[in-house]
Amino acid sequence: MALVVQKYGGTSVGSIERIEQVAARIVRSCRQGHRVIAVVSAMSGETNRLLGLGRQMNARPNEREMDALVATGEQVSASLLAIALSGMQQPARSLVGHQARILTDGVHAKARISSIDQQHINAVLDEGCVPVVAGFQGIDARGNITTLGRGGTDTTAVAVAAAMQADVCEIYTDVDGVYTTDPNICRHARKIARISYEEMLELASLGAKVLQIRSVELAMKYNVPVHVRSSFCEDEGTMVVQEDASLESVWVSGVALDRNEAKITLRAVPDEPGRVALLFERLAEQAISVDMIIQNISQEGFTDLTFTVTQDDVLRARELTEQVGQEMNATEVSIDDGVAKVSIVGVGMRNHAGVAARMFRLLADEGINVDAISTSEIKVSCLIRTKYAELAVRTLHNGFGLDKASVPPAAHA
Ligand code: ADP
Ligand code: ASP
Ligand code: MG
Repeated sequence: MALVVQKYGGTSVGSIERIEQVAARIVRSCRQGHRVIAVVSAMSGETNRLLGLGRQMNARPNEREMDALVATGEQVSASLLAIALSGMQQPARSLVGHQARILTDGVHAKARISSIDQQHINAVLDEGCVPVVAGFQGIDARGNITTLGRGGTDTTAVAVAAAMQADVCEIYTDVDGVYTTDPNICRHARKIARISYEEMLELASLGAKVLQIRSVELAMKYNVPVHVRSSFCEDEGTMVVQEDASLESVWVSGVALDRNEAKITLRAVPDEPGRVALLFERLAEQAISVDMIIQNISQEGFTDLTFTVTQDDVLRARELTEQVGQEMNATEVSIDDGVAKVSIVGVGMRNHAGVAARMFRLLADEGINVDAISTSEIKVSCLIRTKYAELAVRTLHNGFGLDKASVPPAAHA
């Protein structure tokens, strides 16, 4: 008998019929003798609808109230699923964030889970009930409702699995696994049977929204086996696991696309120690994460500084950059939101030279210009114009042979 956490995403609970199908799947798992904890997202489109309502009230709404508002989406689907389960003679109890004792820090809209009280969820299980946990939310030390960032129900599910020492965390979504690239962009994308936590973390960080980044970090930290699969069929999906030798034979495992970044440029920054530090300290104080950073070669004691942030943060980042710019007499701040980041990822890159060069060549042959580059041991990212985004993904996917089953690296040389 296994303890299984099953997370159902927005599309999987997108209608009454789909919630009934999810309930039937949970009942099947229970009848097979497993103990199931369900974790649910809001019905698809609901979080956007709620965010839209809040923004209609006020273009820059209060963050505490926005969290209270959007958390209701998951409350609705959790209760509907519990009602559906009860109707199938399977006792169930919905639990919103504070009822499941999911404690977080106080950073609204991107809170981090600090603890989950497993005793409470255990008590529900011991009564023979399926706990149906509302994802994406928690409560901070002062009793405020918090949310975990877009896609945060994945993180709730993995955190619950870690706290409860579940045997597996199943992520049910609208695709049947993790693919070599977004199957909705490239029809030659292939399903990956097994992927390492590290590669999955890079893919998620680089825009593959199939798993929220933080959920992969937690899975890696607590060694939670994650099975990404479809709620619409019985097929095996993708196992996200510890790296092993067999995973290293491929030099590039996947291509990711992120259209959610914007580029900010601050011109004529005095090229003196401490200037750049000051700007990034201010951004960090406001919990704004910076991704790519480029500093041009200094000319006559001045330099231009360009960096990227997520589109959600761009207005606040611009304000702060303007303030800091004025303090240091830097002349001009500009925003460019017509950029996309395309990345290649693979643990095999550690052992293969020439991967970045090949990426640049493939993009150049399609006439795609690269604005900025960043690399790590297992990834290369390029910032390009948004209009070339899908072309770049397909070009790299084909160029690295990802459309063909396990091509040996030598074949690319
Ligand atoms: P859910 O609502 O179930 O959480 P999401 O929309 O958050 O689902 O994530 C699933 C989506 O992730 C897919 O529909 C797909 O478009 C996208 N995606 C991006 N990259 C990948 C990838 N490499 N493999 C699978 N899906 C991907
Ligand atoms: N409902 C939230 C969102 O749309 C959380 C989630 O679905 O994971 O981002
Ligand atoms: Mg998601």
